[in-house]
Amino acid sequence: MDTEIPLITIGGTPYEMGRQHGLQVVHLRPLIVEAIKARFAQIKSDGPDERFESLVRETTEVLREVDPPILEMIRGQAEALELDFDILLRYDLVSYLREDLITRRAANSADEGCTTWAAVGSATANGEPLLVKNRDYRPEHLPLQVLATATPAVGYRYIYGSSAGSPGVFNSGLNERGLAIADTSVHSTDIGPGLPDYSLMMHILEEHDTVCSALDYASSAPRMGRNNLILADAGGDVAVVELGYHHFAIVKARNSIVVNTNHFVSPRLKESFVDCTPTPVKGNSFHRYALVRRELEAARGSIDVALAQRLMATHAGPLASICRHLELDGRLATIATTIYQPARRALRFCHGYPCQSSYQTITLDNEQGFLFVDSLPDTFPHPLPPDENPALSGAQSGYLRP
Ligand SMILES: [Zn+2]
Repeated sequence: MDTEIPLITIGGTPYEMGRQHGLQVVHLRPLIVEAIKARFAQIKSDGPDERFESLVRETTEVLREVDPPILEMIRGQAEALELDFDILLRYDLVSYLREDLITRRAANSADEGCTTWAAVGSATANGEPLLVKNRDYRPEHLPLQVLATATPAVGYRYIYGSSAGSPGVFNSGLNERGLAIADTSVHSTDIGPGLPDYSLMMHILEEHDTVCSALDYASSAPRMGRNNLILADAGGDVAVVELGYHHFAIVKARNSIVVNTNHFVSPRLKESFVDCTPTPVKGNSFHRYALVRRELEAARGSIDVALAQRLMATHAGPLASICRHLELDGRLATIATTIYQPARRALRFCHGYPCQSSYQTITLDNEQGFLFVDSLPDTFPHPLPPDENPALSGAQSGYLRP
């Protein structure tokens, strides 16, 4: 597998950020077109009906009303990539909304996974928070995978993992205030017209600096539902959020550890989960969850980056493997591991299978933004004074901020 990760740099208004994203990945346009075609072929074979199409229309309406920034970003991407805006928007929406088709039919068609966890305080070796994600996704997104640094016209600077041609924060990210976030896919019946999680994560990283503030926002925003978020901040607060269209649940740390895979655990959302994974790997979300929880409990007090790297490369058969090779079910593979160190404004990124590929280290330089570095210093001063980002103070602060 490849080990080089392209880094793109975007900034300005949402439209400008989308356009810069598109221009910097324009050489990947043929692969993006292939990914769009593959997604549309999948939807066609799912058998889209009128209920599905009206859900796509209603979701587009909600975005027009409450989230013009994400639409402007998509418009900028479409223009730079010379793609039709409506086609790119449909690609961005149907990958999530097909949920409605497959959970209604209880089809075996899961093609997204992901294992995440966070550990803070007394659970970690040095007391610093860690947030970790294995990105398990369709393998055609490996050559599309990018890291992007964003300097929005209004809001905090942040770095995030994404796919070329996809909008918002498509995988996970970290902002300059030390708030880290990652998502996982959950097949759910509790979905509806609202903001997809790549939009929620973008607004959270641009406008929020603590887990508490992000939770206030996510609980009040109109949500599409489906997917969980895991968050950790520089101060050591941590949580998992289970997102439904109707329901919303916060799962707090136990023993300073949270784990999140591809199902709901809260009483409020548990019944909405539908296991769409096919039979050699059916139920693997529960097995991965149990393995990670067990290993982290066993290592409590000594959890560090090295342990995270070992854990995320674990092979334990078709159900409990954390590093998921394509051979397990032929549909998805671990295409990245990201280890966030929020208090250091740093991350370690592995592009490809974590059992085979090397990690690159990236950290925030106050002047130059997020940069690749050979290693992190042993002691690390907080790179930002504990005051407000001037861009966010005052009346114009955060779009959609409650
Ligand atoms: Zn492996």
